[in-house]
Amino acid sequence: MDKLERQRAAESAGHPEWAELPDTMGGAWREDVTQYFTGRSCPHGHVAPKTRSGGQCIECRRIKDREYRKTPQQMQYMRDYMRERYRREREQR
Ligand SMILES: [Zn+2]
Repeated sequence: MDKLERQRAAESAGHPEWAELPDTMGGAWREDVTQYFTGRSCPHGHVAPKTRSGGQCIECRRIKDREYRKTPQQMQYMRDYMRERYRREREQR
């Protein structure tokens, strides 16, 4: 992908500044920035910068973070639900 294509991809994603990022992981380390932008979409179809450590698309990471945060609440909900059910079953006896 050439520079112009990358710039166009950044603009159509609504972030023209992404074109200023390095286009490779190695470039990100060299320039000492935490992200790089290839201009290509990730396997999930996001056109977004990738992190220099691991090369994960930042959009995928955000989604994953959100799911991770959701999990403890769901577990707490299940615990409360099971406890309540257990209590009710005991009372019925
Ligand atoms: Zn992604």
